[in-house]
Amino acid sequence: MTHQDPEQQAGDHPANDPLSHLVAEIAEVAEYLWQKGWAERNSGNISVRVNGLIREAFPSGSISSATPLSEPFLRMAGDLYLVTGTGCRMRDVSREPDKNLLMIRITAEGDGYEILSPPETKSGPVVPTSELISHLMIHRYLKEHQPTKRAIVHTHPSELIALSHSPVYKEESLLNRILWGMLPETTILVPEGLGVIPYRITGSSELAYASVNALQSHSVLLWEKHGCLAVAPTVMEAFDLIDVMVKSADILLKCLHAGFSPEGLTDEQIEELRDRFHRK
Ligand SMILES: [Zn+2]
Repeated sequence: MTHQDPEQQAGDHPANDPLSHLVAEIAEVAEYLWQKGWAERNSGNISVRVNGLIREAFPSGSISSATPLSEPFLRMAGDLYLVTGTGCRMRDVSREPDKNLLMIRITAEGDGYEILSPPETKSGPVVPTSELISHLMIHRYLKEHQPTKRAIVHTHPSELIALSHSPVYKEESLLNRILWGMLPETTILVPEGLGVIPYRITGSSELAYASVNALQSHSVLLWEKHGCLAVAPTVMEAFDLIDVMVKSADILLKCLHAGFSPEGLTDEQIEELRDRFHRK
C-alpha cells in the first residue's frame, strides 16, 4: 500500500510498518487461495478491521468523497478496514497488492465510507468488493461480540462445495462428524466444526444475516453450493481454518474416489481429542 503516515520517521523501514506486514500477509494468503484452486477469476474476498493495528494518520487530499452505504453502521463510525477490490483476482492481489487492496474508513455518521489513498489502475479507480455490505455486517457483529477476530476470508474450495451438493453430506452435524473423523487436527483446530448455511443468493443480506447468526457458534462457514467464509484474529488464521476443513474433505473424497468409505476415527477417539485439547 502507498498510504504514508506523515509522522513516519524517514528512517523507518517499511518492513517495520504494521500496515506493510498486514498487506504482505493478505498477499501471501491471496496467493495460497489461487494456488489451491479456490479463487477462479475474481472470486473470493478478504477484509480486515485495522483500527489499533496501524497508525491512523493519513495525508489530507488523498481521501475519496464518501460513498453511501445501503444501511447505517453507526457503531463503526471512523473504523478502518483493509478490503480487496471489486473484480480483483486473488492472483493479482498477491502480485500487486497496492492496486488491488483498499483502505476504507466509515464516515463519522456511519452512513458511508471513504477510500484513503484510493488506488488507480489503467481501467480506473479501484472500489471495494461487491460483498462489502456483507463484510461490514459481519465485522459489526465481530467488533461487538468477538473483538479479537478482525479478519474475514471468503473463498471457493472445491472439495467442500462438492460435499454441499449432496443431500446427505450437507447436513451439518453429520458432515462435521465425518470431517472430524478424517484426521485428528480437524477436531483439534476446528472443534466447533463447520456452520452450514443453506443456499442463498450471493451478496444478499439474507446470506449475510444467516452468516452472522452462524458465527455465534462457528468460525468457519460452508455456504451451500457456493464456498466458505472464515473469521479469525488474522487473515492467515482464517485461511488455516478453511484449509484444515478442506483437508478433511479431500481425504473423504479421495477414499470415496478409491471406491471405499473411510473408516474414520471412532467417537471415543474424537472424545479423547476433545478431552486432551479442549476440556481442562
Ligand atoms: Zn463467493
